[in-house]
Formats: sequence, C-alpha cells, structure tokens
Amino acid sequence: VEEEIDPEAAALAKKLAEYKGVWVFVEQTEGEPAKVSWELLGKGKELARALDVELAAIVIGDNVEHLCREAFAHGAEKAYLIDAPVFRYYRTQAYLKAVCHLVETYKPEVILMGATGLGRDLAGAVATVVGTGLTADCTGLAIDDKRNLMQTRPAFGGNIMATIMCDKFRPQMATVRPHVMPMPERQEGAGGEIVRESCPIAEEDILVKVLEIISDRKKDQVDVAGADFIVSGGRGLMAKENFAMLQELADELGGVVGASRSAVDAGWMPQERQVGQTGKTVRPKIYIACGISGAIQHLVGMQDSDIVIAINRDKDAPIFEVATYGIVGDLFKIIPAITNRLREL
Ligand code: FAD
Repeated sequence: VEEEIDPEAAALAKKLAEYKGVWVFVEQTEGEPAKVSWELLGKGKELARALDVELAAIVIGDNVEHLCREAFAHGAEKAYLIDAPVFRYYRTQAYLKAVCHLVETYKPEVILMGATGLGRDLAGAVATVVGTGLTADCTGLAIDDKRNLMQTRPAFGGNIMATIMCDKFRPQMATVRPHVMPMPERQEGAGGEIVRESCPIAEEDILVKVLEIISDRKKDQVDVAGADFIVSGGRGLMAKENFAMLQELADELGGVVGASRSAVDAGWMPQERQVGQTGKTVRPKIYIACGISGAIQHLVGMQDSDIVIAINRDKDAPIFEVATYGIVGDLFKIIPAITNRLREL
C-alpha cells in the first residue's frame, strides 16, 4: 500500500527540521547577570536532552565575555557572544537586531528569556520580527514526541492552566518569570565553545540615547522574590497595623513579609510585596501563609516553596492543599505563640 504524502506537511516538516538547538538569552546589566538566566539554563538543559541537541547561551553586551564562562558553569555547551560598546545599555533596537542576526544565521529550535522587563520587551520584538509565536510567563516547559515545546501558563485570570504549542513556526519562544524554575547546581570550571559574532549596528542608527541611569531601587526596598523566609498575610489579617505581628515573626526567622493581593488592594502592604500571578513568584525555604485562602492566583506564585506552613481558621481553605504543615485556628493567637517560642530558642 502506498502511503499518501501530503506535500504541504512534508514542506513544513522540512522547514522546521532546519532549526536545531535550545538557546537561553543571558540578561545582564552592566555585566551583572540576572539570575533568571541561570534558572533557564537549568530548564534548557532538560529540554536540550529531550531534543538531543546542544544548549547554547546568547550573550550580548559590552565586555561581557565572563558571562559566557558563567553560562558554561550553569550548563551551556556553547555561547554566542556579541560584544561591542554599542550594546553597553539595553536598547530594544540594538539587541533586537543582534538576536535576529543570530537567529537567522544559526536557526535555533527553542529560545528562552526571563519574563523580566527587559526579557518581555526583547522576546516580543524578536518573535514579531522573525515571525514566530511567543508564550509569556510560562510556569512549565516540556517537549512532546513531535519535538514541540509544550508551554504551560495560567490563562483566563489563572482559572485554568493552558498548554500552548507553536507547531508551525520556529524558533519556539517562551518567557519564564524569575524563581519559577529551580537554580541548577554550578559546575565550577565547566568549559564550552564561544562563538564570536558581530552585528553591524552603529550608535548613530539607534534612536534611543542613554544619558544617565537613575536606579529606582530604594535603599530599604525589600526583595520578596529573593527571600529564603517569607511570612505572608492576607485578608484574614483584618488591618494594616496587624502586619507588625508578621514582621516580628519574619524578623525572628531573618525573613521578609509578603502579602496576598487582597491585602495589597486594601492598602495594608505595598504592591512590591504581593505574591502571586500579578505579583512576585517566590521560592523560599519556608513560606508561612497567614489568613490567606489559597486562590489559584496566589498559589501559582508560591507553591514551589520548599516548605509551606498555612495558618487559617477555615479547615477547608484551599491553601491547605499545597501546605506541608497546616494549622487550623486563629492567626491572632497562633502567630504570637510561634514568635514567642522562637525567641525562647
Ligand atoms: P480571602 O480569600 O478573603 O481569604 C482570607 C482567609 O483568611 C480566609 O481563608 C479566612 O478563613 C482566613 N481568616 C480570616 N480570619 C482569620 C483568622 N483570624 N485566623 C486565621 N485565618 C483567618 N491574589 C494574590 O494573592 N496574588 C495575585 O498575584 C493575584 N492575582 C490575581 C490576578 C487575577 C487576574 C485575578 C482575577 C485575581 C488575582 N488575585 C491574586 C486575587 C485572588 O483571586 C484572591 O482574591 C486573593 O488571593 C484572596 O486573598 P486572601 O487569601 O488574602 O483573601
């Protein structure tokens, strides 16, 4: 029996097969890497193994060759390096041209970028110019039996998890928020190949000029996303002043105070402390959820914490489904009791 060959499908398969390799964009500011890049290399390694291809880093900047070696230490086997003064500061036009030049020359199958301000801007621009799809804010990535990247992310306000595929275009592009993927172990001294490339773009061609950099980071700003211990409060806290009780517990643990969106919307905590889909994704050693019901939009931001301790007076609260330890009771009694016990130790 002769099998019928669909010429369109065959042409598409041939076109897609030209693309090989998993790439991770290494984000940096003045040579300082964003940790999410290494987290993505950890995930990228897994995807590259499943596809049986190479894992490469894209390093663009001015005097950034050291980042290629850092990328090797985090699992990359190759680094495409574009190193020139014109790339000192991130400017969409210049970085877009550089990434598109690499994509057109080397044709990667998958490109991952951090869902940071920079990554979101660049990934969208690259996908548009090279004519492919992009899934933003993925929480899961895997390869199916047809070499498609299965990109999972919350959809419809976080009420469902959607798995998205880009089966007719390459490269397949995804952004992932910091702390969603685990940090791979650093392999000191791991080697790899550096491929030096140049991209013809002159300073005069770039419309945006950087005159001065003014950091918006306040001196006392708390980094919820990077904390090892987080004590988070929700609507169950009842009032702004009750967060002082959480701060005392956080101080005992050497941690920080986080909040649910309800607590932020009520004006009890600043937005930078919000954990969840529209806040920060966190992955601390211990996450203590106090008076937080556990809506899916909150869970997607904290469910990968090593240990979750939930304190809620409602025994059926969904937060208990992701909790390692659950305490059913009144938080106004339980939190001071824990803090006092820790002080005694
Ligand atoms: P509630 O759901 O009101 O829960 C309060 C809990 O406190 C209850 O379980 C109650 O039993 C308990 N409680 C009350 N008093 C006590 C007491 N004395 N002792 C012990 N327990 C007590 N939410 C986020 O958190 N982060 C997000 O990023 C986020 N993004 C969203 C994005 C979209 C598109 C949408 C639609 C929603 C989003 N939400 C987000 C909101 C989310 O759906 C919930 O409304 C919110 O998380 C609920 O906050 P909460 O748990 O503090 O309040």
